[in-house]
Amino acid sequence: MKNVKNKLDLIQIFLDEEFANVGCELHYKKDYELLIAVMLSAQTTDVAVNGVTDFLFSKYDTLEKLNEVRLEEIETIIKPIGLYKNKAKRLKEIVAVLLDKYSGKVPSDIKELTSLPGVGNKTACVVRAEIFKIPEFPVDTHVSRISKRLNLCDQKDEPIEIEGKLKKTFEEKNWIKLHHQFIHFGRAICKAQNPICEKCRLQEYCNKR
Ligand code: SF4
Repeated sequence: MKNVKNKLDLIQIFLDEEFANVGCELHYKKDYELLIAVMLSAQTTDVAVNGVTDFLFSKYDTLEKLNEVRLEEIETIIKPIGLYKNKAKRLKEIVAVLLDKYSGKVPSDIKELTSLPGVGNKTACVVRAEIFKIPEFPVDTHVSRISKRLNLCDQKDEPIEIEGKLKKTFEEKNWIKLHHQFIHFGRAICKAQNPICEKCRLQEYCNKR
């Protein structure tokens, strides 16, 4: 049986070969737009979010304009992504807090980020990694599924536990890159349903095989 070092090296080599230059797929021009886009992406796809935020962020291109627009107008625009009533409310609340408390700037502190309405640990970690380049390993549904299949965590682990284990397992300098690579691997090959295992070179480490 190959040792753990070989396993981790092989995961990194495989992902580097298959997903060399991958990154965040959410469209944004301003820091707060990313924060909002990540919040909106809960239980939907980045493509669907981009489909509504391209219009939303071009029509209301400042925090002040987003603060002024009526809740119902936001609901109408983001309706296609689902859970739109709750998400529109959160969006308005985030905008108000950013303006009132942070002078329109997105904070980098994890506690400040997670105190924003609708912003959980994963969203905060994505923002810290993407905007501030702070080493983070955000755990979404893809990262969680792949970590479990490759026995990088326990099957019953919650995202926060998986995040801790991945951070202990991989070098800090690779966390952000690996996070993106896991997501792209999960979308293209290691799908939730019917993964394309014949394209995967990590089969010997996978508990699904
Ligand atoms: S063998 Fe299949 S299920 Fe396992 S990690 Fe590879 S693609 Fe995913």
